[in-house]
Amino acid sequence: MKAAVIHEHGGLDRVRVEEVPEPKVGEGEVLLEVRSAALNHLDIWVRKGRPGLALRMPHVLGSDAAGIVVELGSGTHGVKVGDEVILNPGLSCGCCESCLRGQQSECISFSIVGAGKPGTFAEKVAVPSCNVFPKPAHLNFDEAAALPLVYQTAWRMLMTRAGLKPGETVLIHGIGGGVALAALQLAKLAGAEVIVTSSSDEKLSKARAIGADHAVNYKSVDNVATEVKDITEGRGVDVVIDAIGAGTWDTNFNLVRRGGRIVLCGITTGGEAKTNLRALYWNQLTIMGSTMGSHEDVRLMLKAVTTAGLKPVIDSVRPLKDIANAMGRMEAGEQFGKIVLKTSE
Ligand code: ZN
Repeated sequence: MKAAVIHEHGGLDRVRVEEVPEPKVGEGEVLLEVRSAALNHLDIWVRKGRPGLALRMPHVLGSDAAGIVVELGSGTHGVKVGDEVILNPGLSCGCCESCLRGQQSECISFSIVGAGKPGTFAEKVAVPSCNVFPKPAHLNFDEAAALPLVYQTAWRMLMTRAGLKPGETVLIHGIGGGVALAALQLAKLAGAEVIVTSSSDEKLSKARAIGADHAVNYKSVDNVATEVKDITEGRGVDVVIDAIGAGTWDTNFNLVRRGGRIVLCGITTGGEAKTNLRALYWNQLTIMGSTMGSHEDVRLMLKAVTTAGLKPVIDSVRPLKDIANAMGRMEAGEQFGKIVLKTSE
């Protein structure tokens, strides 16, 4: 079958589309015929390599997928051949203390399809049967493939971790990225007021068109925190959604309200930053890390998306052979929404 693979870590030129053997279904697994897959920043980290990541080369990239179940391994349940499904790429052991609490993304051996095992940028992928969920009927395969990783991440950050309530104000950094846009859509669904930031007026205007209440261009204002304080009449926001890391960390402490929550799910600008300890204790802030989601987060996210008829924001749909260009677009931060790959093209 055709797949996008790396033989070694490195730059965009390390990604190749080539023939690889079809995966075999193991016990408790199903074989998916992948119709569409979506890019994530994780794919860039995996391509570049990072400490602790030991892959068997050549490695098939990709975490998000929507497709059709074409084969069942032994011991699967709740799935049949022909089902149209989306993949929850979070892999957990099922029997550790966290898994038994239903917190699969806290599993001691948590990993992700495309990072812990061969990924979805292929015509077929073998995954645990409990990781496939029915594809929402109002979405086509391209739209459905855009959901799993970033929408569950945003759901967990907003609903499970921050406990967002209607009427609260949420600040989302770097609108245009997958998690940021998912958080915008889900926060609006939950009845929150949303402030977004970007360095691009074009992205800010697109974000307003899909529901952002306020948009701040961090390049054209002197101080983002002052701007956000003005918008909130000096109060600050209830919740900060941060997938940026080092570049935004310090600012968060100047724009969150007393007693507010800061939720971090990514470090696209770096993983080390100073923390304003005075603001942390005096303003009684809560800092939370968040990774992917539990099976329950995914189920609730899909239910909410289906009930509201919500459609994910898609930047572009491209053939698999265009993967290097697609990754380059994401690395340059040019995208607005998910980049979807057609695995059969
Ligand atoms: Zn576990």
